[in-house]
Amino acid sequence: MAYDFDLFVIGAGSGGVRAARFAASYGARVAVAESRYLGGTCVNVGCVPKKLLVYGAHYAEDIEQAQGFGWTVDNKTFDWKTLIANKNREIERLNGIYKNLLVDSGVTLLQAHARLVDAHTVEVAGTRYSAEHILVATGGWPHVPDFPGNEHVITSNEAFYLDALPRRVLVVGGGYIAVEFASIFHGCGAETQLLYRGELFMRGFDGSLRDHLKDEMIKKGVDLQFNADIARIDKQADGSLLATLKDGRTLAADCIFYATGRRPMLDNLGLDQLDIALDKRGFIEVDDRYRTSVPSILAIGDVIGRVQLTPVALAEGMAVARQLFKPEEYRPVDYNTIATAVFSLPNVATVGLTEEQAREQGHKVVLFESRFRPMKLTMTQSLERSLMKLVVDAKTDKVLGCHMAGPDAGEIMQGLAVALKAGATKRVFDETIGIHPTAAEEFVTMR
Ligand code: FAD
Ligand code: NDP
Repeated sequence: MAYDFDLFVIGAGSGGVRAARFAASYGARVAVAESRYLGGTCVNVGCVPKKLLVYGAHYAEDIEQAQGFGWTVDNKTFDWKTLIANKNREIERLNGIYKNLLVDSGVTLLQAHARLVDAHTVEVAGTRYSAEHILVATGGWPHVPDFPGNEHVITSNEAFYLDALPRRVLVVGGGYIAVEFASIFHGCGAETQLLYRGELFMRGFDGSLRDHLKDEMIKKGVDLQFNADIARIDKQADGSLLATLKDGRTLAADCIFYATGRRPMLDNLGLDQLDIALDKRGFIEVDDRYRTSVPSILAIGDVIGRVQLTPVALAEGMAVARQLFKPEEYRPVDYNTIATAVFSLPNVATVGLTEEQAREQGHKVVLFESRFRPMKLTMTQSLERSLMKLVVDAKTDKVLGCHMAGPDAGEIMQGLAVALKAGATKRVFDETIGIHPTAAEEFVTMR
């Protein structure tokens, strides 16, 4: 049977664009439908604008610290509107780049919502297209729990477009987005409280890192409230918000920001027409080749909810393009040792096993830990300290995990991820000569 396209991709985010471009470069006839914004979450309301806001927020500390180096900065002021306008301009530029990337690779771009009709048909703006393979790469969407007054909260989607910096912000959640945005709001000058329902935020990260981040955020002035959760929110006559916690306490704020996880974006996707299985959490279920329960329909990225990170969506997109159109180059995605960074202030980054995971998996571990004042801060009033930690298998000497909190943790961790992937032992780390004077050298000098 002749199809209109070899591959029809729904969603021009990180995964969809990667799969479409590479499939087209392998000679496939490819279409992409995008209903909202080119580049998806990462470019528009995720990684990129977030990192720009983190840079913006960090200037507060940079300006303060500059005094130790002889600089006087009089009348320091901050304008949220300028930050947002400049960020928006940069995102528009990136949207244009994404459009060119697709069009220049010969992909047919349809800028409208797409809906699955059957195993080989997609409908976009009233027109039906057939395709041998359909790839669902529709990403995720913030999830706000159900409780009275939840209509008053914002999520990361809205935070990127706030007209003004709120004076008092309550951030709810204890994962990536909560700590990153608490750092952004606080750095930009808002009174910031972070409420997390459990004992200690950043569940899943190494215990030392979680404790360290807690201490550092408190030192910087973020009010961290653990074992705290909101029961209801009421809007006050002056427009401010009053949150009543489950323990009966009340907290006043001008903005309440929820970062309580993301759900797959399946709205009006036509799943009801097809027998596509979802997993227990509601994400699209796929096999090891990203095939859904309807084998001509594949899915990748946040919508399958394996690891919700851009580089993972990119790797999955690449794997799909290759398995369909360049099978000789197909390599399965290796979900082990995925490095990740949290762009909180200070930054946190990690690769491999946490101490807790290593012990759970039966490893006898040797730990190396270093806490120090970053050199750049020694002539400043800053009390910030960095943490580096290595988790090593006592029997094999293999480095199982690397963890860091401190400036440029993400930049440093990328290289260590290569070392871990290559199976480096602690001895290899020890035999590696450091780069002096850097913070990174600590990773090869810890004994
Ligand atoms: P997306 O990028 O979400 O793309 C899906 C696209 O599909 C969207 O453009 C959407 O409009 C479109 N779409 C949905 N339904 C339809 C439809 N029916 N028809 C047509 N189009 C449709 N990851 C990192 O690695 N590093 C970070 O620093 C980082 N920071 C983040 C910060 C925030 C605030 C958030 C929310 C996420 C962050 N992430 C980060 C995660 C990262 O953004 C996602 O993992 C990544 O974007 C997932 O890519 P995707 O292709 O699966 O989906
Ligand atoms: P996370 O899953 O990281 O964190 C969700 C947080 O919300 C957890 O602390 C969770 O608590 C808490 N939570 C969940 N449900 C409720 C509830 N009903 N009431 C109160 N608290 C609740 O999600 P995020 O939204 O922060 O981010 C989504 C994903 O996006 C991340 O997991 C990550 O994959 C990606 N991302 C990556 C970034 C990066 O690479 N730097 C940055 C931002 C996002 P508990 O731990 O108790 O379950």
